[in-house]
Parts: sequence; C-alpha cells; structure tokens
Amino acid sequence: LGGKLSAALRKLQSTTVVDEEVVKAIITEITRALLESDVNIKVVMELKKNVEAKINRSEDASGASKKRLIQQAVMEELVAMLDPKTPPYQMKKGASNVIMFVGLQGSGKTTTIAKFAHYYQRKGWRVAMVCADTFRAGAFDQLKQNATKLRVPFYGSYTEADPVRIAEEGVEQFRKDRFEVIIVDTSGRHKQEDALFEEMREIQAAVQPDNCVFVMDATQGQAVADQARAFHEAVPVGSVVITKLDGHAKGGGAMSAVAATKSPITFLGSGEHFDDLEPFVASSFVSKMLGFGDFGSLLRELQDTNDPGMDPKKMMDRMTKGQFTLRDFYQQIQGVLKLGPLNKMMGGMMPGIPDTAQQKRFLYMMDSMRDDELDGKVDIAGNEKRVTRIARGSGTRVEEVQLLLRQHKAREKVVAQMGKSGMMNAATDPAM
Ligand code: GDP
Ligand code: MG
Repeated sequence: LGGKLSAALRKLQSTTVVDEEVVKAIITEITRALLESDVNIKVVMELKKNVEAKINRSEDASGASKKRLIQQAVMEELVAMLDPKTPPYQMKKGASNVIMFVGLQGSGKTTTIAKFAHYYQRKGWRVAMVCADTFRAGAFDQLKQNATKLRVPFYGSYTEADPVRIAEEGVEQFRKDRFEVIIVDTSGRHKQEDALFEEMREIQAAVQPDNCVFVMDATQGQAVADQARAFHEAVPVGSVVITKLDGHAKGGGAMSAVAATKSPITFLGSGEHFDDLEPFVASSFVSKMLGFGDFGSLLRELQDTNDPGMDPKKMMDRMTKGQFTLRDFYQQIQGVLKLGPLNKMMGGMMPGIPDTAQQKRFLYMMDSMRDDELDGKVDIAGNEKRVTRIARGSGTRVEEVQLLLRQHKAREKVVAQMGKSGMMNAATDPAM
C-alpha cells in the first residue's frame, strides 16, 4: 500500500492550486491505490464518499488547508474504518476468562496463542492452554512445545478424536483450578468446510467462551473478508488478530475483517517468536499503511533513544533538504535496531531498510569506511579498491558492500523526493 498511496499523497503535497478537479483526481488516485492494496471495494467506495463529503463541507478552505483536509480526511476515514465502535473484550482479573481462537489452518492461531499466553503471563495472569485441534497431525505437539517453553499448563490428547470433548474437559479442569486466561486452540481445516464451522459451533456451545478471537493472515488479502464472515456466522467473534505483518503484507484485509466481524483488532503479530505481538493502535497502523507516518514516528523514536552519537534534529534538517549520507544511513539503522519488534514491522514497510542481520552487517561495513566516504565526499561504488578495502575490513563480501551502496542510493532518492515535496514536514507533524 505504502508506495502507491504515498505517491498520491505526495502529488497532492506538490500541487499548489487545489480546485475541484485536483480534489477529484486525487481522490480517484487514492481510491485506486486502496483497491490495489487489497482493501475491499465497498470499503473503498465508502471512504471515497466520506472524504468527498468532508471536503465539500469546507468549500471555503484555501488551497493549502484543503490539501491538509484531504490528507486528514483520508487518515481519519481509514482509522474510523478500523474502529467497529465496539470495545474489545476486557479480561477480568480473578475470574476465568475463556478465549477461543478461530481461523483457517495456517493463519497463525497456535503461534498467536503462545504469544498471547506469554503476553498475559508477563502481566501476572494465570494462563493455561487447551488444544482442541484434533484434525491436524502434530497440532497437540506444537501447542505442548510452546506451553512447555512458556511453562504454561496445557490440556490435550493424542488419542481422543473428539475436539468438543477435549475442549469441554480442558476448560472445565482449568476453570476448577481457577486459571484466569484459558485459551482454546481449534482446528482450521476439515475434510469439509461445513464440518469445520459445525465443529466451531459445537466447541463454542460446549465451553461458552467469554471471547472468540478471529486470527487473520495479513498475506491473504481479500480472501480474509469471506473467512471472517464465515467464522463470525459460526461463532460470535469479538476480536481480530492480524498475523504475519513482518513480511510484505499489504494489510488492506484488516478493514474487511473489522467490517465482517464488527470487532476490533486487538493485536498484531510480527514474527514467529513469543515476543512478536504488539497491541493494535489504529493510527499507527494506518500511517504505516500510508507509507509516510512511519517516517515521523521513526524519527520521534530516534529522538527518544538519546544516543549522544547522533543528532536527529540535524539529520532531519539535512533530510528536509534532500540530503542523506551514508552516515545518516548508519545512524538510521542504529536507531532502527534499537526499536525492537517495531523494527521488524517497519523493515517490511520501509524501502531500503533491510532485516536485522543485514542491518548489522551494513553497520560493520560502514565502520570500515573513512569519514570522507561516510560523508559522501568521495565516490565509493565506482572505485573497486575502496569497495574491496571496505569488504575486507568488515569481513564481508564485495557484493554485499555494493548492495549497501545501492540501498543507500535508493534511500537517498526517496529522501530527496520527500524533501522536495515537503512530505518530510507532513511526516514529522504528529497531527498527521
Ligand atoms: P495455525 O494453523 O492457525 O495454528 O497456524 P500456526 O500458528 O501453526 O502458523 C502457521 C505458520 O505461520 C507457522 O509456520 C508460523 O510460524 C507462521 N506464523 C504465525 N504467525 C506469524 C507471524 O506473525 N509472522 C510470521 N513471519 N510467521 C508467522
Ligand atoms: Mg494450529
């Protein structure tokens, strides 16, 4: 989503006269970008209507404030679409909260359950897990392994084939033992689709969960809408978790899942480790989707790291002028590495920011560079001797150094474009 949509918004930024035609063209472009990013057509049409209505209501706005209005309206509309106006389920301390997880096989239920357990366990809740997936071979082992690592009690069976019975027995036992968060894992596949949803209905009826969580795989795009609807028809879904946002998922299915289940998104999964779970914040999700807010939040986070070796303000000044040296790239990577799980999400969404292992190798390479090289005063890429020296000095390969130089160039180009269009200012403005 990032690329196309921010291109549309960037165009908006560089236009000085905003007449009706420009407004129309821009809304059309935003509409197209959203459709290409897996956002459902009905959702997009609604957004279009609402943004247009907002713009029309402020006929008298001047060019500059009209631009701002469109940006704000798009942002607000997207955030509103992620808000079903239903509060998420509140865990009750001291009581048994039974949470049933549903979603297609492979969507990330079992992984999310482990993260979810870890999340509440760290906050001091008594957590237990029940494996009611008897369809997939190895499902119980997978849950058991996670539970053992987390030291969370679990319930399941290698021999019992009836998932309803396991769910009922497991939940009953953990309720009796006064566990506070009792998580029920379910199967996401069946020989027949009807049978899967029937099974979900039966488990739901048997354990009477306090909340049903629908797990959606962000990489699934539009297909998520139908899945969400089907699961919601079978069981009363009360919240949504989006997984696999660490990859290159477009995220547009999120709005559809919210619309189909009328439930809020509560967490985002951004990796395969227990720590890779983040509470959902609509505004930050949307600004990442739009592909420019991340810049502002990244810089704000960099400012918070208080690294004496870097001056984010100076860096920001240079970037506003469209300058972005290898030294800036170094500082940016260093900052990003400090961000932890967020880093991984942004890695997939920011052009030119590689994964953690690669980031570290890039730093080694830049450690082997001289000041004039870091400051962009001399050419490196065209000088074989320099490239070889840097590779040797950092224990890396010539091709990797070239990759670093290419990525820096790509990043420099983006910064130059953003600087020129005034996007940098919009990006650092917290109101955006
Ligand atoms: P289930 O069938 O719904 O229980 O799905 P699993 O939890 O078994 O996950 C299916 C696959 O997706 C596994 O290989 C997981 O490691 C992977 N997975 C789950 N969540 C994430 C995530 O947030 N990011 C990434 N990269 N992989 C994930
Ligand atoms: Mg599973």
